[in-house]
Amino acid sequence: MGKALIIGAGGVASVAIHKCVQNSEVFEEICIASRTKSKCDALKAKLDGGKTKITTAQVDADNVDELIALINEIKPDIVMNLALPYQDLTIMDACLATKTNYMDTANYEPEDTAKFEYKWQWDYRERFEKAGITALLGSGFDPGVTGVFSAYALKHYFDEIEYIDILDCNGGDHGYPFATNFNPEINIREVSANGRYWENGEWIETKPMEIKRGYNFSEVGEKDMYLLYHEELESLVQNMPGLKRIRFFMTFGPSYLMHLKALENVGMTSIEPIEYEGKQIIPLQFLKAILPDPASLGPRTVGKTNIGCIFKGKKDGQDKTYYIYNVCDHQECYKEVGSQAVSYTTGVPAMIGAAMVMTGKWNKPGVFNIEEFDPDPFMEELNKWGLPWVEDFNPVLVDALPEEANQPELVR
Ligand code: NDP
Repeated sequence: MGKALIIGAGGVASVAIHKCVQNSEVFEEICIASRTKSKCDALKAKLDGGKTKITTAQVDADNVDELIALINEIKPDIVMNLALPYQDLTIMDACLATKTNYMDTANYEPEDTAKFEYKWQWDYRERFEKAGITALLGSGFDPGVTGVFSAYALKHYFDEIEYIDILDCNGGDHGYPFATNFNPEINIREVSANGRYWENGEWIETKPMEIKRGYNFSEVGEKDMYLLYHEELESLVQNMPGLKRIRFFMTFGPSYLMHLKALENVGMTSIEPIEYEGKQIIPLQFLKAILPDPASLGPRTVGKTNIGCIFKGKKDGQDKTYYIYNVCDHQECYKEVGSQAVSYTTGVPAMIGAAMVMTGKWNKPGVFNIEEFDPDPFMEELNKWGLPWVEDFNPVLVDALPEEANQPELVR
């Protein structure tokens, strides 16, 4: 069918690449390109020998000219951006210059501010449309599958969705007192920012981790979850007509929170550069260097993730609720692709999103968030490629839960 250029060779890219190779009918050829070429070569060495032809390259994705030269050499049908959010715009620029389709799993972020805004990427809409190429934004799990679930719920079960709660539960245990399941810098930026949700046309800001609920997750059990801002809220507010409120909750254990608070209190999570022995360093980047590499958590993580969306709205004038979620087992993922479930639940949808564009199932010129496409073919592929979904038409609603004290005493 076609050729993909994959940029990045970290946790998420590794899973996506395993899945591209499994889906060799669509991915006849892939080129893995990243800053550290040895990581690309290691993946090639592991996966070579199947039907997908694999090549590798070194690229600095902060450099548009280097990217353009690589795209012109490879001539891919799509560039899969599985590097970091900082590279989104340079890769989009290179795609525009070469008229190549684009996809990613996280919105652009400037290195010096943590904003989680689509504005910069939405500014490319007209240019992508004119160039006749598609940019698919946010094709991971959240953002990603959560947007597909929302489009699917609206298409099949509701006339109007009024309330959405996205629940992201990681019941995995890696045995370390503190480690992050994906890139530590991005993860810590996300959870140490203020919380925010949208209600009746307004954004309401909370302190970090201010709103807490206990939820009993299927196949995982009771976990504490906290309201966070998450980037898919911004696009879903625009793309779900009639929406009154949308919130995002993520689970954290007490040990994670205690360490995070202590690190924050001593300034280790700051993205403001400081001078150390005559050198400028960013404390959060230094912290990343001393924390366990997320890729190393795979063999030690046990337990499951459960990520999904609870919808409340109207169908034929009647109130209706609907919960759709996926449960993923860390050890099963490790056995299959050598990574834990957090990378797996992101890498699989990245492969599927790229396949949707390459096969022409999702093909419209412009820049689109994932919920703007027909969810049905993507939903089918989720079942096929390892992320089956479960539906519950009578879920426990978050609003039915008692409000809990905000944080463990220790963390305050
Ligand atoms: P990793 O840090 O494991 O991997 C990032 C990769 O990008 C590394 O191979 C790194 O190279 C490469 N890279 C970084 N900068 C450059 C550059 N300038 N040029 C070329 N390559 C570069 O991150 P993850 O795999 O955990 O995360 C990947 C992306 O997925 C992130 O954007 C993250 O936000 C997103 N994500 C999305 C989720 C979702 O559900 N939507 C969930 C989890 C993550 P090197 O090896 O040299 O460092």
